[in-house]
Amino acid sequence: MTTTTETFESHSPADGRVIGTYPMMDADEVREVVDRARIASLWWADLGFDERRRRLLRFKGLLARRSRELAELVHAENGKPTDDALLEIILSVEHVNWAALNAEKVLRRRRVKPGLLTINHDARVEYQPLGVVGVIGPWNYPVFTPIGSIAYALAAGNTVVFKPSEYTPAIGQWLIDAIHEVVPEQPVAQLVTGKGATGAALCESGVDKISFTGSTPTGKKVMAACAASLTPVLLECGGKDAVLVDRDADLDKAADAATFGAFSNAGQTCVGVERVYVHQEVYDEFLTLVAEKARALTPGHGPDSSYGPMTMPSQIEVVREHVRDALARGGQAVVGGPESVGEGVVEPIVLAHVPEDSLAVMEETFGPTLVVNPVRDMDEAVDRANAADFGLAASVFTRSRATMERVASRLRVGMVSMNSWVMYAGVSALPWGGVGQSGFGRIHGPDGLREFARSKSTVRERFAIPLTLTSFARHPNTTEIVRRVTSVMHGHGR
Ligand code: NAD
Repeated sequence: MTTTTETFESHSPADGRVIGTYPMMDADEVREVVDRARIASLWWADLGFDERRRRLLRFKGLLARRSRELAELVHAENGKPTDDALLEIILSVEHVNWAALNAEKVLRRRRVKPGLLTINHDARVEYQPLGVVGVIGPWNYPVFTPIGSIAYALAAGNTVVFKPSEYTPAIGQWLIDAIHEVVPEQPVAQLVTGKGATGAALCESGVDKISFTGSTPTGKKVMAACAASLTPVLLECGGKDAVLVDRDADLDKAADAATFGAFSNAGQTCVGVERVYVHQEVYDEFLTLVAEKARALTPGHGPDSSYGPMTMPSQIEVVREHVRDALARGGQAVVGGPESVGEGVVEPIVLAHVPEDSLAVMEETFGPTLVVNPVRDMDEAVDRANAADFGLAASVFTRSRATMERVASRLRVGMVSMNSWVMYAGVSALPWGGVGQSGFGRIHGPDGLREFARSKSTVRERFAIPLTLTSFARHPNTTEIVRRVTSVMHGHGR
């Protein structure tokens, strides 16, 4: 194996100490890893559903037992409070469990009904593994996000090559080591480390699919790189999620959810709340509640802080620019302001009456800021929520079941939480993914298993019938007989 001499370090966002040093892997090294994964993929696919389930359930057990150790590492390398780290690990345990227990049910070979024309055939569909899946991950949920691809890809019978964010390679290494503990025989999950170039090399390495989670601009580069070899891609990209609050909503509950959704993880959440559209009749009351809750937060470097420092230093400038732009266009700072944007920790910022064409409303801020704007009614709220190019998720708060359902069905997003924030993430059977600039493809649930499999259709003639259509020797009347049957069966449709 060739070895690289160039390395990079990951640092604690709290105090800058070095967490780990990792090789900056080039295209040749990535290819070697993928080659090993390809050999292992034959063995892993041959193990079958039962044995793979056993291994993945062992991995689940290990994650659950050592969750505190992993949470400490997430706190150190990503900066989020330990309890928030535990939360993403607990959700990940649920997903590994679900993928392990349901892969066979979702992907096994099954019969489908043949139509009248093919009544003499037995028809079946099965979902075979793709081979090697390349997973490229972000730093903001360094456990939950990659596990949504890794666990489901493994359960579907693929091997995985994982490229974690350059900000969280130690967490990536921990996950891969843990999988190796439960599958020591073959490298079914391997790590490649480096920056963007290593991710780009993975796209061009001959893997059978790339599952990418990260920003929209990078997602476009990934898709372009994969186009050259027609490597399929799944893109989980950015968001600009909105909360919609109707006049009959439980305002305290809605304010609590919006505050947690906006500020937890320092706002660095793809489905984080960045905008709230509130019915004008309850706008002032709601804004007061959110402002109170935001002012009570205590961000910092400690394990028990409300939220931690910004993980990626370059994002601080984006937050600053969005806040400045909102205020320059006439928005009001209700809590904090440009002065809240520090060097590491950004204090909570609540902005009101921000023009809809400003950066803080249209672009992903990815920081602890929240825009709260009034609307005439829920129809206007939906129109405004849908005006963003992103379409990841949204939440709606109302006591009316009818309004809830109507609003949810009209929102152009992949996921909706009603009278709560983000709870779809906790239901493993529900698919996760966005529309528009938020990407396409789905992780989690049955759709998330099928993303990492290719369907194969088979038909088997059970008995011969005189009406053979696909032969040069067919009788001249055959097509006419079938035409008449088709006309009788389907010709009445208008
Ligand atoms: P990013 O796009 O900067 O990086 C993501 C990953 O892509 C990293 O591992 C990076 O090294 C790699 N990369 C960079 N350039 C590449 C290239 N040319 N080819 C291949 N890989 C390359 O994103 P980030 O800052 O790590 O993560 C934050 C973003 O992720 C936000 O936009 C957030 O909304 C999004 N996100 C989305 C979801 C979702 O489920 N939709 C979940 C978490 C985060």
